[in-house]
Amino acid sequence: MSTHFRVTYATLSADNEELQVAYDAGLRLAASWLGAVIPGYVSGEPRTGGELFTVTSPGDRSVTLGQVHSATAGDVEDAVRAARGAAARWARTPWPERVAVLRAAADLISARSNELAALMSLEVGKNRLEALGDVEEAADLIRYYCQQFEDSDGFTVPMGSLSAREQNVSVLRPYGAWAVISPFNFPMALAAGPAGAALVGGNTVILKPSPQGSFTAAKLYECFRDAGLGPDVLHLLPGGDDVGAALVAHPGVGGLTFTGSYAVGMSIYRQFAGFGYPKPVICEMGGKNPAIVSARADLDVAAAGVARSAFGLSGQKCSACSRVYVQRDVLEDFVAKLAELAGSLVVGDPTSRDAFVGPVINAESVARFERAVAHARADGEVVAGGRALRGAGALPDGYYLAPTVVTGLPADDWIFRDELFVPLVAVAPYDTLEEALVLANDTDLGLTAGFFSADPAEVDAFLGGIEAGVVYVNRAAGATTGAWPGVQPFGGWKGSGSGGKAGGGVYYVQQYLREQSRTVAS
Ligand code: NAD
Repeated sequence: MSTHFRVTYATLSADNEELQVAYDAGLRLAASWLGAVIPGYVSGEPRTGGELFTVTSPGDRSVTLGQVHSATAGDVEDAVRAARGAAARWARTPWPERVAVLRAAADLISARSNELAALMSLEVGKNRLEALGDVEEAADLIRYYCQQFEDSDGFTVPMGSLSAREQNVSVLRPYGAWAVISPFNFPMALAAGPAGAALVGGNTVILKPSPQGSFTAAKLYECFRDAGLGPDVLHLLPGGDDVGAALVAHPGVGGLTFTGSYAVGMSIYRQFAGFGYPKPVICEMGGKNPAIVSARADLDVAAAGVARSAFGLSGQKCSACSRVYVQRDVLEDFVAKLAELAGSLVVGDPTSRDAFVGPVINAESVARFERAVAHARADGEVVAGGRALRGAGALPDGYYLAPTVVTGLPADDWIFRDELFVPLVAVAPYDTLEEALVLANDTDLGLTAGFFSADPAEVDAFLGGIEAGVVYVNRAAGATTGAWPGVQPFGGWKGSGSGGKAGGGVYYVQQYLREQSRTVAS
């Protein structure tokens, strides 16, 4: 078994030789998997009837990860039928047994973290520590939901009763077959987290991963399977948007979790309700996350926090900071510091030891970046980066972009409004904090927001006025979503999240359950 280190987002700056050596071993193992043909799984049986699509590495387009069988309409039908068929038995399985198997799955994820992380670096371009953090978060989210079941006695609450001959109890019970549709950028945590919550609650699960995440999802599926989860309890349906859409449209799906972009999430949110009665749907969507830098901020901390948030995972975290409002007096100094940091970050092969910024996910992201840069050059100023780095220096043939800072655009420019999901941050001045808060809140989204100021009154005003689910103040490590379960949940307000009760948080797992009030007379 490989050496296992506990890497959390809080310790991502920590680095040590042993960890690197263990990742290298994981990378060798993951590399030996390349070229695999990946099926879907329905009731534990591989499904190979669907068309094959190829997954190549965004960091090196000459590397083929594997060929994946897209789920067919028949696979979707069979998976939903099987998940529904197994739902009653899994729901009746005593919760401590469900917890035991899910904890075993979490332990397998941890035990395999190096090879899973290396595979993820190859598949979606995450650097070493980010990938290890994603894997460990997947395990910890599952453990946290298990712990919540333990701490609450399986969500069983004795209630008062009017007579000694009546016993009243409130219990939380599952919905049935639950679909999980996950995005490319957290291919472990945002598949394992929702699936884990649904499963520990007694729902059966059908997982539809992002196409660019299929291989990682298949390895996640193996962790659940090898931990002893019954074959009817979890089904894997790889494929594109059409497979997700088929699950959304299927009346047999009792509940659904989607994590991905705003437009898709909103259409799913509207559509999923339309089956005669309300069904639970959890949509975690995009961000256009601001940071505000006051004249009273430590500008080094602010620049470090913004750089880390804006350029980590090449700007492709839902938590990424993509717009900064800076008090006018310190605008020039702040921009100079941020531009210097942007220029100093190592862009490189995400499996290499020193890369901080890996590739973006695909050619569309590069095109989106180039459109934004051209616009900024025409109407504002590009003060750092602004280039695609394909073919540059020693970089492999991947979708590498230079961390980019733009200024001089009006605060109502589309660059301040649209989620671009690339390593580009736009900076604009403000005069009063009130004005900055209006600018920061002037969006349909509300995932993360940051503030930098040494003035406690300003900090209070920010915390009281900002409309976002995850906020941070004076944090040199920048934006975080999912710092750690029970420590900092990740969930959006407004168009960033349907429930405002997010993964890792104390109110999350309950969303996969419905209350039944039981009165039993003797
Ligand atoms: P995406 O919306 O393109 O795809 C997400 C998933 O939905 C994929 O599995 C995709 O195949 C599927 N899908 C697409 N269209 C569908 C449809 N019509 N019906 C059903 N399923 C469909 O998103 P992405 O590019 O994979 O991920 C990036 C986005 O995810 C960003 O907007 C980011 O902010 C967001 N995100 C949000 C959070 C959060 O916690 N709020 C976390 C991570 C990512």
